[in-house]
Amino acid sequence: MSATQTPSRPDTKFIVILSDGMAENPLDALGGKTPLEAAHTPNMDRVAAMGVVGQVNIIPDSQSPGSDVGNLSVLGYDPDRYLTGRAPLEAGAMGIELKSNQVAFRCNLVTLIGDEMHDYSAGHITSEEAAELIEAVGSRLGGDGRTFFPGVQYRHILVADEKYDVLKGTPPHDIMGQPFADHFPKGDGADEVIGWMKQSWDILKGHPVNRKRIASGKSPANSIWLWGQGKAPSLTTYPEKYGLKGSAISAVDLVRGIARYAGLDVLHVDGITGLLDTNYVGKAEVGLNSLEDGDFVYIHVEAPDEMGHAGDPQKKIQAIEHIDREIVSRVLDYMQRHPHTRVAILPDHKTLCTTRTHERGRVPFTACGVGIEADAIPVYTEKSAAVSEHDFPVGSKWMDWFLGVER
Ligand SMILES: [Zn+2]
Repeated sequence: MSATQTPSRPDTKFIVILSDGMAENPLDALGGKTPLEAAHTPNMDRVAAMGVVGQVNIIPDSQSPGSDVGNLSVLGYDPDRYLTGRAPLEAGAMGIELKSNQVAFRCNLVTLIGDEMHDYSAGHITSEEAAELIEAVGSRLGGDGRTFFPGVQYRHILVADEKYDVLKGTPPHDIMGQPFADHFPKGDGADEVIGWMKQSWDILKGHPVNRKRIASGKSPANSIWLWGQGKAPSLTTYPEKYGLKGSAISAVDLVRGIARYAGLDVLHVDGITGLLDTNYVGKAEVGLNSLEDGDFVYIHVEAPDEMGHAGDPQKKIQAIEHIDREIVSRVLDYMQRHPHTRVAILPDHKTLCTTRTHERGRVPFTACGVGIEADAIPVYTEKSAAVSEHDFPVGSKWMDWFLGVER
């Protein structure tokens, strides 16, 4: 893109603020405005005024508009080539090293009633209860190349042989209230995987954790459900690909997993939740501090997405305003002190308050800093982006442009 040249000094700092699900279509509830338009965002508009606004088509037509696809694409990796499944990304976030001859499955603890998938989360079972159950499952069904790893709440991982990579499984949250047997994994090796799921029934049925849950009126975790398996994605890391030492901050497993595979340090920040009450200031401060010896930081904020899923435009506006006031303002202060910096703000996909789900389609970005010549667009909204000449039809090319290594 002509507005940008390669940063001329090697010590440029790059900051990406990924505002998950922030973009949206106009809402009747907001008088025809989007949450981003309705929100008071003087700092984001300052970035727009100093730099450029444009559009990115982050989600390829071939992929569904999830945060796994979106964040891979924004970070510069073509999802068609690099996305191998959800479970290997989550395994990465948990620090599980997958060998090249292994796959990771997502292993949900679920509640089956009769022949139906009653609850994909086993009544949002606690991590402590789940750990006991997964240990019991692992001690009986583990071995012979299989290892069960306890995760958070109902979300666990099974590492198994690579031969199961070919299976087609189904997310349990997509088949709530439906006959589960219709949605067992299909393909070569499916019988064995279905066998483990069925064997878990006996192991879990009389387990003390489940007895206690039933006694207190909660759903028992009476089955495991295996799906979403894949091999480790082989991403060229940021040091290899861009010559950059970078970090990432996110409360979301998937995003942390992608970051690890991309060779980014996943930084710890106290009190980050993935929700509206997350620690915005902490994210900004830890992220900016990492630039003392790093070149790149990816600050991911989940809150706008969650407020979209909640169908609450006012809370989505609040999330966007928190990001503007607590994060973007600090980044602008940092740029005053360190002029050789570039910053970008963008979402990974739209999350609609109307449908409470993600939608594909172009999303707006804004970026400013060293080497980025200002265009004439002074505000950052979906509408202002739509009239911009800056358009990236292939989302995974956007990062090359932002980092000034356009090829
Ligand atoms: Zn979402």
